[in-house]
Amino acid sequence: MKRIYLDHSATTPVDLEVAALMMTYYTEKYGNPSSVHSFGREARQALEEARRQVAELIGATPQEITFTSGGTEADNLAIIGTAEAMSKKGKHLITSSVEHHAVLETCEFLAKNGFELTILPVDAEGIVSVEDVRMAIRPDTILISVMHANNEVGAIQPIVEIGQLAKEHSITFHVDAVQTLGKIPINVKDMNIDLLTVSSHKIYGPKGVGALYVRKGVRLAPRAHGGSQEKKRRSGTENTPGIIGFGKACELIGKRMDKEDARQIILRDKLMNGIIERIKYVKVNGPLGEKRLANNVNVSIRFVEGESLLLSLDMLGIAASSGSACTSGSLDPSHVLLAMGLVHEIAHGSLRFSLGSQNTEEEIDYVLEQLPKIVERLRMMSPLYDQAIHK
Ligand code: PLP
Repeated sequence: MKRIYLDHSATTPVDLEVAALMMTYYTEKYGNPSSVHSFGREARQALEEARRQVAELIGATPQEITFTSGGTEADNLAIIGTAEAMSKKGKHLITSSVEHHAVLETCEFLAKNGFELTILPVDAEGIVSVEDVRMAIRPDTILISVMHANNEVGAIQPIVEIGQLAKEHSITFHVDAVQTLGKIPINVKDMNIDLLTVSSHKIYGPKGVGALYVRKGVRLAPRAHGGSQEKKRRSGTENTPGIIGFGKACELIGKRMDKEDARQIILRDKLMNGIIERIKYVKVNGPLGEKRLANNVNVSIRFVEGESLLLSLDMLGIAASSGSACTSGSLDPSHVLLAMGLVHEIAHGSLRFSLGSQNTEEEIDYVLEQLPKIVERLRMMSPLYDQAIHK
């Protein structure tokens, strides 16, 4: 059976060129980058090249890049590191209701430990209002953390405007850009960003590697102690092959970003419009057009469960993801969809398709051929659907 992968916001396959380069640093050039001998020096050189490659993709200098074990660790380092470093100035944090759990739960952890938290609402498209940010700012605000684009509905936030506000009030501004790196041009200087989280496995690099951009001069306390790696911000022997792979992945995606973005917009719109045309009672979640990530389709299909849709698609080899958090052992619908005002019943029937560089038009045609049949079959078994159409 042919398998179709449409879950690139969860993770991506490692680029073959990236994997080949990494292999060299596992088996041949395996030195510890902190060692002074030639093995250590060749690993250090490659690690610093990776730092340059990551920095280049976001308009930073290599000295401003701290490697971590991924997006989650970078978010934790940014938020807790700022809270610790700045707590004498104030204890108020601002974030949004649609952040990834790595940000939301880290802020909530701090709120239980003496900090105050404002969680901003979003509009029906999942977008934060700049005016709400302005109104939430207090003299004791030390951090604003708002993501660049949402991982579930693809909503792109007004980062430039929020960055301007943060700058005017001398507040540290953190942006989780895990879903936008290599998809939307990022320039941390132009966008007034102080801290930026990125992750390798969403851009065809290896899993378990990420980075935090820390603007020169920004105060940040370390999370890991005991070594002097990464300017003492993140102690521990570096995941050298992983970091080198991440650097290469940044270089490769930077070269094809514009072309790939345009290609994916065509596929995205074909899939989204095709679903609306072929299936009744469907709602698109998130913004349309320029405020949406090029690779994101998120729809709520009424009278069916997202999990049942996922399983039926999986039986045909099609991999997508749903808006409910069943994988984490809870049946609660996504906090993002609820924050956008969706009622539980509709949020439960939601489905996310996220496109990647290997997807083709034929694959989209296949999904459009199969999905309506699956929905029809599931709706036939739904008493709610029966009631609704016979009303
Ligand atoms: N932030 C966002 C917006 C994400 O989508 C993800 C992963 O899905 C993360 C953070 C966590 O990144 P990682 O998987 O590298 O820990």
